[in-house]
Amino acid sequence: MSDSENANSVTKPTNFIRNIIDKDLASGKHTAIKTRFPPEPNGFLHIGHAKSICINFGIAEDYQGLCNLRFDDTNPAKEESAYAEAIAKDVQWLGFKWAGDIHHSADYFDKLYGFAEELIEKGLAYVCELSMEEMRTYRGTLTETGKNSPFRDRSVEDNLDLLRKMKAGDYEDGSMALRAKIDMSSPNINMRDPVIYRIKKAHHIRTGDKWCIYPTYDFTHGISDAIEGITHSLCTLEFEDHRPLYDWFLDNISIECHPQQIEFSRLNLEHTITSKRKLNQLVVENVVDGWDDPRMPTISGMRRRGYSSAAIRDFISRTGVTKKVHTVEMSLLENSVREDLGDNAPRAMAVLKPLKVTISNYPEDKVEEINAPRHPQNEDMGTRKIYFSKTLFIDQADFRESANKKYKRLVLGKAVRLRNAYVITCDEIVKDAEGNITELKCRYDENTLGKNPEGYKPKGVIHWVSESHSKAATIRLYDRLFNVPNPASEDDFLSAVNPDCLQVIENARVELSLVEAKPEDVFQFEREGYFCADRFEHSAENLVFNRTVTLRDSWAKIEAKG
Ligand code: ATP
Ligand code: MG
Repeated sequence: MSDSENANSVTKPTNFIRNIIDKDLASGKHTAIKTRFPPEPNGFLHIGHAKSICINFGIAEDYQGLCNLRFDDTNPAKEESAYAEAIAKDVQWLGFKWAGDIHHSADYFDKLYGFAEELIEKGLAYVCELSMEEMRTYRGTLTETGKNSPFRDRSVEDNLDLLRKMKAGDYEDGSMALRAKIDMSSPNINMRDPVIYRIKKAHHIRTGDKWCIYPTYDFTHGISDAIEGITHSLCTLEFEDHRPLYDWFLDNISIECHPQQIEFSRLNLEHTITSKRKLNQLVVENVVDGWDDPRMPTISGMRRRGYSSAAIRDFISRTGVTKKVHTVEMSLLENSVREDLGDNAPRAMAVLKPLKVTISNYPEDKVEEINAPRHPQNEDMGTRKIYFSKTLFIDQADFRESANKKYKRLVLGKAVRLRNAYVITCDEIVKDAEGNITELKCRYDENTLGKNPEGYKPKGVIHWVSESHSKAATIRLYDRLFNVPNPASEDDFLSAVNPDCLQVIENARVELSLVEAKPEDVFQFEREGYFCADRFEHSAENLVFNRTVTLRDSWAKIEAKG
């Protein structure tokens, strides 16, 4: 690790949230910090959630506090335990530990219900029989105040009786709801008698059929925070207008703790989508192969693509914590990934589009073992064995019959260096009946292993593999999922899917050492990019590599050095 990186990981850049926390600690308002990450288990986590995770868990870590993982599971219809399991795994993989057991909003259903009755008893909640449609009309608009519900002034006894019957299952879904009695003329629409409980005769993943009424998000969230003793409830900006309601609930029920809600701006990333609903659509409509498809901006998709958790955390820290709405370029994320892999990924050679090369002056049965460094700058990573033999493969793109000086690869009649091996010169091209090049006949210069040739200069350096000491592999070249920077703003975001976001190469050839690659190992395939052995499909018998990210355009420099 270089000095600057080291410095980066110890000095935590301050931000407005830390400033608030520092003040609260200095004033003695708090002596310990407790945050929480509260996902709804209705899909996989994406890069935006990674930001929220890094902020919540990161702050807890830095202040030697605690961070809870709480499933905000108040909506029985859309939630699945498979999602909950995937979310917990993602948080761990990102490198964070939650305090104690995983929490669930559903664990508080009894308490929440008790608080609802308390609000009724205080004359601060009522059962309303307006339909959803009517409620909407009564609510008013941004410019027009709302109208009181005709059910607003029921007696405490009637309200309690009705709520209990709602809870007992006596009424149909949607026929009535419990509402907070706040202010129908508030300039903040969230304060116009929001719904607290709705009837939903649905099975819940944790509470089964115990409940047929479910608390709303706004009612549940703040109270769950308070029950858990959260000090700072960090969320995204869209909840800013809900803060007065968050505070109103906590001010009007019998609970000691009153967490402070603080909002920060969401992370949006160009050329992709950060909405679970839309990501779900990509999955359901088979645009991608599941939530963990390497093209998905989900944590599990990025993991399968070969992004490390360190790279994702580095990217998140570079995006900062502010209240400014912003969209970050994909290249920022890719740069974090490249920087991490440049240092950590061992080198290997893979030929994506093989072209046969026969070395005419090399003995038929000879095979030479060469020790090639795993990393050019890091000797500690050791070497791997590569094999030189009479028949080799180079990439089709690395040969031209004729070319100008700028083409630093193999040309008929010219010389090129094979990476980690000899310099070869192309003497002859073999073509099929259609004129396609099927083979090259070359000569090798036996005095060029680790030495410059005498009297001539190779045009550049290309990668290669031996025919007998290489394996066939499937290689998937991934590109950006969307053609446009902001697909979410399209009328039909699916129409902006990049048709070339995946290209599958079935018969690539990779060096023999790669049979030892384990799922999730990442390599730099020299000159081609970073590739990750597929987490689920790769094995020693069936090599499958996903392109993590392309290389920077720096190969030209390396070529010049020879
Ligand atoms: P989506 O819109 O994708 O469904 P959500 O906000 O509904 O996201 P939740 O499961 O409710 O998803 O989110 C859990 C936490 O992650 C919330 O605190 C939310 O504010 C935060 N979060 C979600 N998306 C982002 C994002 N793009 N940037 C930062 N934080 C986010
Ligand atoms: Mg949500």
